[in-house]
Amino acid sequence: MFTIALLPGDGIGPEIISEAEKILNAVEHIFNIKFQFVEGLVGGASIDAHGVPLTEEVLQLCKNSDAILFGAVGGPKWDHLPKEKRPEQAILKLRKDLNLYANLRPVVLFKALADASPIKQEFLGDDLDIMIVRELTGGLYFGKKGKEEGQNHVTAFDTMEYTDDQIRRVARLAFNIARNRKGHLTLVDKSNVLETSRLWRAIVSEMAADYPHVKLNYMYVDNCSMQLILNPAQFDVILTENTFGDILSDEASVLTGSIGMLPSASLGDEKPYLYEPIHGSAPDIAGTGKANPIACILSAAMMLEYSFGEKSASKAIINAVNKVLDEGYGTFDLRAGAKHVVSTSEIGDIIKKYIGID
Ligand code: NAD
Repeated sequence: MFTIALLPGDGIGPEIISEAEKILNAVEHIFNIKFQFVEGLVGGASIDAHGVPLTEEVLQLCKNSDAILFGAVGGPKWDHLPKEKRPEQAILKLRKDLNLYANLRPVVLFKALADASPIKQEFLGDDLDIMIVRELTGGLYFGKKGKEEGQNHVTAFDTMEYTDDQIRRVARLAFNIARNRKGHLTLVDKSNVLETSRLWRAIVSEMAADYPHVKLNYMYVDNCSMQLILNPAQFDVILTENTFGDILSDEASVLTGSIGMLPSASLGDEKPYLYEPIHGSAPDIAGTGKANPIACILSAAMMLEYSFGEKSASKAIINAVNKVLDEGYGTFDLRAGAKHVVSTSEIGDIIKKYIGID
């Protein structure tokens, strides 16, 4: 039996997590796996109940689980709070405390959604499948930051810092992933300007000798943001630091038709790993039935593969999503490519029906 910590969070978080739970329940029956679900409040929901975005109890609940499925946190209700009290601290603290340093973000275009993407088919290619490996516990989000009030000016700063070890461990994972895919790794940085990027390049190029079957190339982040639109098919695995990875993966999500399609897995040296859609809490559509739960459902599929070694069950979820999209079903965000626009829970029900059907 695997214990899964469900952390719905705010906005559309609870809506998408309950669809993923629905799918995992179907997997239990069909694949004879047993899950125990435990639930905790995070983000704004935790602030409202306990005054903090993540309680020690919920952190402990996560540490005692085999894997964590996270919805999303944040919303205008809590935007006025000081940085350390904001809902987003919940996910940052979880990543840091659980040492989840590598965030895997697969960017896959399901064929049925080619029309939902604003990018023309000829640019998307036939088989868009990119893996973005984003470093998750270093860089700007965790470096020294502050605000200083001078006599005439206010100065704010965030520091981008990386150690060689931080780079090496995530790079090792990216090389290994590339080796098991098409064997092509692109390091994305800004080494023409940033000292941290120069360290990334030095370390990654040194490590390349240990991976003779992986072709390594380098790209500046500004060029990469353009190349992702112009010629996404050139990429196999992209390795990049925290902030660049955050921004580039939101951009890459557009290739797939919607940000509601992109799952992620956050891995470290020890379990539990954490799984979450790459999007936020989408307060603008919360409670309307417009949220696309597929990114969250595909995050659960990644959990089955990476945390539990249940590859067939994971594949069954991906296949079910594929079939449902092929039949023309989609949520509101996919309306440009869908024949039948259905609600969050309706698409969850339809995907559930297709689990295990070949
Ligand atoms: P967002 O990702 O929540 O939303 C951006 C746009 O995409 C919105 O128009 C939204 O409606 C749409 N969208 C997002 N997910 C969708 C889905 N599953 N289905 C359909 N449409 C979807 O980003 P934002 O608006 O910049 O941020 C909203 C809040 O989320 C903020 O408080 C932010 O800090 C927080 N946030 C949290 C996380 C996280 O919990 N990991 C990540 C990013 C942003």
